Amino acid sequence: MPRWLDRLLGRERQPRRPLPDTLWQTTLERSPYLTELAAAEQSRLRELSALFLEDKEFHGAQGLQITDAMALTIAVQACLPVMHFGAGDQPLRWYDDFVGIVVHPDEVVAQREVVDELGVVHAYEETLAGEAMPEGPVMLSWQDVDAASSESGYNVVIHEFVHKLDMRDGTADGCPPLPTGFMGRASARQAREHWLAVLQTAYDRFREAVIRAERFGAEPTWLDPYGAEDLAEFYAVASEAYFVNRARFAQEFAMLLPLFDAYYRPQR
Ligand SMILES: [Zn+2]
Repeated sequence: MPRWLDRLLGRERQPRRPLPDTLWQTTLERSPYLTELAAAEQSRLRELSALFLEDKEFHGAQGLQITDAMALTIAVQACLPVMHFGAGDQPLRWYDDFVGIVVHPDEVVAQREVVDELGVVHAYEETLAGEAMPEGPVMLSWQDVDAASSESGYNVVIHEFVHKLDMRDGTADGCPPLPTGFMGRASARQAREHWLAVLQTAYDRFREAVIRAERFGAEPTWLDPYGAEDLAEFYAVASEAYFVNRARFAQEFAMLLPLFDAYYRPQR
C-alpha cells in the first residue's frame, strides 16, 4: 500500500517486515536507557524503527559497510525523540524532509570559511562527528555513534536528529516547532517565548560553568562544553543527556526537565 493512500484513508501504516527478534534484543541490550523503557514504549519504538528503516537510505562513505545492526542502532536512537509524537507513522513525518543517512567510518574534516568585518576571508577546518542540514541528509561518524555513553550523556545520533526537529521551522535556533497549547500557553508566540526563556537561563548557567572550568580550573561540566557554543547546540546536547541519562539530567538541569517532558512526552 503506498504511503499517500494510507494517509488519504487515515490508515495507520504498519511495517512491511517486522524486525527480527534477535537483532532487536541485541540492539536494546547495548543501551541501558532503552532497556529501562516500559514494554509498551519498547514495542512502539520497535515498530517506528522498522518504518524508519523502510523510509531511509543508508550510505556508507569511504567503503564503510553498513550492517543491519548498525542501521538499526541509528534508527532506534533517531526514533526515540519523536516516539510520542502521535500514532502510526506520524512521528516520522518530522523526518520526511530527507531520505539519506551518510555514515563515515570516523570524524569528518570539513573546510570552512568565514568573512570578518573587514572582508578578510578566514579558512579553517572543522572536525565533525555528525551534521544535519535543513532538507538535507544526516551525516554521522560511526566511531562517534559507537562511542555513545549514558554515563557521559553523549549520543551523536540523538544530537543530529534533534537538530532536525529544531530546523523544521527553517532555522536551528534552539526552539523546535511546538504543539498548540504547549504548557498551557495560549499562542504559538507565547509558547516559543516560554521555551526560549527557560532554555536561555539553563544555557547561561551552563556557559558560565564551562568558562569557570576552562579558564579558572573549576571542575569540568558533565556535558560536552560544545553545548556552550550557542543555544541550538545547547538544546541538542541537553536533549542527548535527557534521553540517555534522565536521573543525572534531572540533577544537573532541573529546570529543563518539565520543559523537555512537556515536549517529548506530551500528555494526550
Ligand atoms: Zn550540533
